[in-house]
Amino acid sequence: MVNNLYVVTPRGFCAGVEMAIKALTWMLKIYDETIYCYHEIVHNDWIVKKFKENNVKFVNNPEELPENAIVMLSAHGTAPKIENEFKSISLTNVNSVCPLVTKVHHEAKKFSEDGYKIIYVGHKNHDEAIGAMGVAPDSMNLIESVDEIENVDLNSNKVSLLAQTTLAMSDWEPIMIKAKEKYPNLKMPRKNDLCYATTNRQEAIINISNKVDAVIVVGSSTSSNTNALVTSLNNIGKEAFRVETTDDVNKINLKNKDIAITAGASAPDHIVQNIVEYINPKNIEFYIDTNETEYFPLPVELRTNIKNLSNFISSMYPENNIKSQYGVKNDKSWTATEALTSL
Ligand code: SF4
Repeated sequence: MVNNLYVVTPRGFCAGVEMAIKALTWMLKIYDETIYCYHEIVHNDWIVKKFKENNVKFVNNPEELPENAIVMLSAHGTAPKIENEFKSISLTNVNSVCPLVTKVHHEAKKFSEDGYKIIYVGHKNHDEAIGAMGVAPDSMNLIESVDEIENVDLNSNKVSLLAQTTLAMSDWEPIMIKAKEKYPNLKMPRKNDLCYATTNRQEAIINISNKVDAVIVVGSSTSSNTNALVTSLNNIGKEAFRVETTDDVNKINLKNKDIAITAGASAPDHIVQNIVEYINPKNIEFYIDTNETEYFPLPVELRTNIKNLSNFISSMYPENNIKSQYGVKNDKSWTATEALTSL
């Protein structure tokens, strides 16, 4: 039996994931047709399965669309060329990119227009890195490790450094230091690109880690920030296990240990709760490192759409009072968990 189990806050859904899940749920409520979503809406297998069961089809390129499809672009960001291809085929196109990913796209565009060569630190083949690299493909060089910095010869006095939002801080920092050594005039955004949710979750679990023998990290293998939590802990010598279900917990020896549990930014909290119940420790403590209050509004195309729909239904059926109950103004008080439950 586990001794103490520390349930860590913040964990799980970030503001970008909240927004993307609610946006796709709204699409399903507005349209009868299949919604075609470019890339997994967020990187979590349970959520992707839930949407698949509710008439969402996930695609990896615009050729997979039928004419006049209804399209949602995922939270990870889409390269401008690909977005235009989707727009040319689809009837409706809603982009649920996280604003913090958009910020990196803007930085890439600006640095490229100003004649900079850009080093982008990210995971090859990750949707976010693919989208960002597509913003300025001729100026950007994707690297994953300190060693790769050595091999990139940009032969320019104008070099800048950008990053995927979900890296492990302990992976990112040595790369940044090496890049600054190699390119003394290196330009970077005033604040690095790792997002608040990535850094808050990593800081919280590292701050509690000296009280525990091991950490359980809930999330899918495709989730970069989940993997970054495991990496951050391993980098300080702490045992960490990524799990998705209670079955995965069975494979770990937790007997007589003190454990902490956290979750990546796309992991639903009911899975964390199931695992806590399943572990059934002698004692549970709730460790709150930071309370997050960030909120990202729905994509602008959808806001207009919902507002028009709400106005139309309210005028046709005033007794429904849809504006006050479900209108876009109330989006802040509607959670992604409630959205998923409503499907
Ligand atoms: S992890 Fe960060 S960048 Fe990614 S969706 Fe969440 S808030 Fe946005």
